[in-house]
Amino acid sequence: MGSVKASPQIQLRLLELADLDAELARLDHRRHGLPEVAELTRLEARAGELKDALVGTETELGDLSREQTRAERDVEQVRTRIEKDRARLDAGQVSAARELASLQSEIESLHRRQGDLEEVVLELMERREVLDSRHDELTTEQEGLGGEMAAVAARRDAAVQEIDEQAAKASDRRAGVAADVPADLLALYDQIRKSKGVGAAMLRAGRCEGCHLSLNAADLNAIRASAPDEVIRCEECRRILVRTPESGL
Ligand SMILES: [Zn+2]
Repeated sequence: MGSVKASPQIQLRLLELADLDAELARLDHRRHGLPEVAELTRLEARAGELKDALVGTETELGDLSREQTRAERDVEQVRTRIEKDRARLDAGQVSAARELASLQSEIESLHRRQGDLEEVVLELMERREVLDSRHDELTTEQEGLGGEMAAVAARRDAAVQEIDEQAAKASDRRAGVAADVPADLLALYDQIRKSKGVGAAMLRAGRCEGCHLSLNAADLNAIRASAPDEVIRCEECRRILVRTPESGL
């Protein structure tokens, strides 16, 4: 049933190895499945959204600011023009009735223009106020998020550290057990473990504890007939089957 041989005591050590490997796999699974990891992913996504929103708001604020400067400059130009026109009127420089009427009409139209432009400035200021408060909200949320992320990361780090400590202990114990297993048997065990997750299983009451299938009478008879130092494999899952007094042979 295979060329690898090992004493029953050594074969029993494979079950310890399998337990330790299962513990290491559990710890690895826990490390990757920590709720803090998922929480951080969610918070990081939100932080990215906030950053984009802030950049968008700042760009809009910059555009608005330039627009406002332009509109204020336009108001100023119109105002200056009105003052000049008025000065000409007051100085009595214009006497011809037609020219006078034209100048007065220009001043009226400039006043309308000034009113329109001032309204534009007002509207821009209102939009700016809305954007400023939006920017404040985003900044406040960003700061809060930063604190929350730091707290979650600290919890994750503490959990990972605890898992790492347990894994280090299990690895040490595994190395101790593996040192007692001959190289050819260990290689076989590791090869099965890599493809199946579990390299060795107990034969308990005629059942393989790896695949949980009961062995048929012919296979059980073959196992009964094989020498105790023969390393046997489950015919179903090909895992190493370790015989114990509970094997039901
Ligand atoms: Zn099996």
